[in-house]
Formats: sequence, structure tokens, C-alpha cells
Amino acid sequence: MKQLLTEKPKLLRMIEVEPPQIAGPHEVLIKMKAAGICGSDVHIYHGTSPVATYPRVMGHEIVGVVAEIGKDVSTVKVGDPVIVDQITACGECYPCSIGRPNICCNLQVRGVHIDGGYREYMTAPEDALHILPENLAFTDAVMIEPMSIAFQSCARAEITKDDRVFILGAGALGKSLIKAVLLTGAEIIVSDVVDQRLAEAQDLGVKLVINSQKEDLAAKLQEYTRWGPTVSIDAAGFTGSLPLLTELTCNAGRVITMAFLDEPSPVQQFKITAKELDIRGSRLQNNKFKEVIAAYNAGKIKIEGAVSHVYPFADAIAAFERIDSGDPAVKKIALAFD
Ligand code: MN
Repeated sequence: MKQLLTEKPKLLRMIEVEPPQIAGPHEVLIKMKAAGICGSDVHIYHGTSPVATYPRVMGHEIVGVVAEIGKDVSTVKVGDPVIVDQITACGECYPCSIGRPNICCNLQVRGVHIDGGYREYMTAPEDALHILPENLAFTDAVMIEPMSIAFQSCARAEITKDDRVFILGAGALGKSLIKAVLLTGAEIIVSDVVDQRLAEAQDLGVKLVINSQKEDLAAKLQEYTRWGPTVSIDAAGFTGSLPLLTELTCNAGRVITMAFLDEPSPVQQFKITAKELDIRGSRLQNNKFKEVIAAYNAGKIKIEGAVSHVYPFADAIAAFERIDSGDPAVKKIALAFD
């Protein structure tokens, strides 16, 4: 079978290998059907991921069809369309013991620390699989993973309908967040520096948008929320974003970080103390695939329409080159398998 190997940063090779085999009674062999390319995959490819190891088969937004099952598998059968959970956890550490395996002390993420789904077949234990909605195309179903990241962020923020949620950044992550926050009934304010992205946010149903390059962000937020947003989610992740959000967020508010930025952000501790801000990280997702799939099946969220380009898996290297070209038309690429 073909697999895309990131041998080391900036070196992708499409190689031919033997397909993996089921190793235990609860394992499942999956024939891959589609895989999304995430911003974090681009970081792994460039060598700027603080967590990835090499050589690596990337791919954590991964869907396929069950091709073979171990002898004790009971939750899926051959032919089922599935999405593979990206998280593997030890089950023994403190976060695992309190039901938070997404931040396991020995966390291994498929496509990051261990091999993922940029290959024609992969194996996974049955408990890592979730059955896909019936009427969702595989190339759209890859977006269930980014949506799960957004659901996690909302859960970490404990958003209620009375919150005024400020989303900083309306790129791919920002747009998934918009869809997730809309489900909570909270008011949403979105800022970006690109009008096109703000127009897309409006198309999703956001009424209050701010172009922070053309308008005074703090003044506008005050106008829209009076006391400031009660929740701020950083979907931009630049050096100044955390200091900015500690400044803008209402007293007693929550600030959610999502970036893997490893350079220091100069935050004034005074702001956090004086306003009793909760600064909370949100990483990956904890049991959110089920919630996203249930919301989709109930007609509450739209997963379709986010993927802008589909490349055959055989052309995966060209897809990464296209992303590197900086073409603004490329919002999200899905790789499609035969
Ligand atoms: Mn992703």
C-alpha cells in the first residue's frame, strides 16, 4: 500500500509498504477513504511542531471503512464507515484517572507522536472508532475532527446562553468555533483583519463582527457587550493575543487558549488577579466525536462546505505544496483515497 511519510521536516515521500495487520482481538483494520490536512500537519511538515517526532505518517482527521475486525470486536462490523479518534492515552496517570485522557501525561496522538492516517490502511482498537453519519461524504466527514476541537473549547469555557463570547480570529478554527458556540445560544462577536473571513462568519450566522485593523477593537467590544466579553477564545494564537484577551475580557471572565505557540507572551499578572480571570487551555478533545456526530445527525450543525479542495491521496505532496503557495482560495484540503 501507499503511505505518505514525513521522513524529517520538509521531506515528504510517498512510499510503498506492507499494509498493517490486526494485532489483537479488539483491533480493527480500516481502509482509509479520506484525510484532512490540518494547520498542525503543515507545522509537522515544516518542522515547527513542538510535539511531533520523525519519521512520521501524519494524518489525524481520518475516516475510512472497516475492512477487517479482530475476533472480539463487537461495536463495528466490516463495511462500517468510521472516523478514528486521534487520541491514545495510558489510562494510569492523574488526568486519565479524572477522565481527561486528551491531556494524558503519556499522550500519544495519531499522526503526531505515532503514525496516523495518511496511508491506504491503518489499524486501531475498536474503542477509537465512531460510526459516521450515513449521508455525509467521506471528504466532508474529516471535518468532524476540527469540530470536536471546537466543542472541546466550548466545554472548557463552560459557555451558557447568557455568555457573550468573543472569538479572536475567523480562520478555519474560528469558523468551527462559531458553529459550536452558535449551538449554545450565547451571543458571539468575531474579529479578524480580513473582511472576507468576517463575511464568511456572517454567513454562518454571526451578527457582530469587527475588523480590528479598521476599527477600535476595545471600543467596539465595549459597545457590543457593555462590560466586555464573558468568554474570549483565542483562535488566532500570536504572541500578543493572550495579553490582548486578558485586557479585553470582562472581570470574572474566562480566556481559552488553543495555540501551540511556544514563544513567551508578555501577560500582566495584575490583569488576571484583579479581574479574577480564568485562563484555561483547550487541547484536542475529550469524548467530543459522539457529540459532534449527534449534533450533525440531529440537524443542528452543518459539517459540509468547509473543505475547499479535494486532492487524490496519490497527489498528497502536491496538496502540501499548494498550501505552501499561500493561495487564499485554499481553506481546507481533504485527501481522497480510492
Ligand atoms: Mn486537526
